[in-house]
Amino acid sequence: MIRYKKIFLGGECNNDCLHCPPAHKNSPPADYRSIEKALKERESDSVVFYGGEPTLRNDLLPLVAEARGEKYRRIKIVTNGRAFSNRHYLDRLMTSGCSLFEISLWGSNQNLHDHLSGAPGSFWETMTGLGNLSEVPHEKFVCIRIPICRENTPDLENTVVTALNSGAHRIVLSLQDRNLPPESLVGHLSNCINISIFNRVWILTEGFPFCCMQGLEQHMSEIYSGWDTIPPRTYRKKRQCSDCTYDKICHGVDSRFVHPVGQRDFPPVKAGGVADRIKALYDS
Ligand code: SF4
Repeated sequence: MIRYKKIFLGGECNNDCLHCPPAHKNSPPADYRSIEKALKERESDSVVFYGGEPTLRNDLLPLVAEARGEKYRRIKIVTNGRAFSNRHYLDRLMTSGCSLFEISLWGSNQNLHDHLSGAPGSFWETMTGLGNLSEVPHEKFVCIRIPICRENTPDLENTVVTALNSGAHRIVLSLQDRNLPPESLVGHLSNCINISIFNRVWILTEGFPFCCMQGLEQHMSEIYSGWDTIPPRTYRKKRQCSDCTYDKICHGVDSRFVHPVGQRDFPPVKAGGVADRIKALYDS
């Protein structure tokens, strides 16, 4: 289980994603000194920079070099990947010490992706960036994050295939849309997981509680990296949670989903089988 120290660089972004929380979008940039100070307060040997869009900062390369100077073993950025369409920039960033990338992909085609990212031309840049990443000779790890919303649900399986064809080492399916009932997604999640596993790429979900993921619990990112996600979520328990075997370890449903969908979805989980093994993992 790798825990990253998370450093927010500010909300500025060159995408205007339909489902980006407004509070997140409007956050001012973090100043260099406070980031430097945060880097010195080591809680882990791994650090992740996120925004907004980190690559818009002129000082990202010095910040990565600073993190390397502080002896962080893993330096990751969460990005829309558009800047990597510039191969020279990508080379410089990787030479500074960044080798882990988490790149958002909203859809398998230009129309859908550009509509959801709010930025015409962004699909082409992100895909070109992914192509460049697959070609650079540096060691790297590329995770493709697929945010899930009503508009892209029918395209989820295709998006997973696009991510696989783009050289993803890992895929994360992250619930983003407060008006999308999780129960409407179970079939798609199961298909996506099967497609990815068949291609030998590990795939995780984010934002789905245990009761929604029965039979697929081992794909919940929260088991491995905790409930403190990027962007941050707040959770709320449902009325029936006290009857659930996961009550003590589950943080509940993302509070954005409790209304209108969270109270009427999945029944609490009974003890036994996978549940007991997951609880044992937490106890160990
Ligand atoms: S504790 Fe509540 S939200 Fe979590 S799995 Fe159980 S019923 Fe679902």
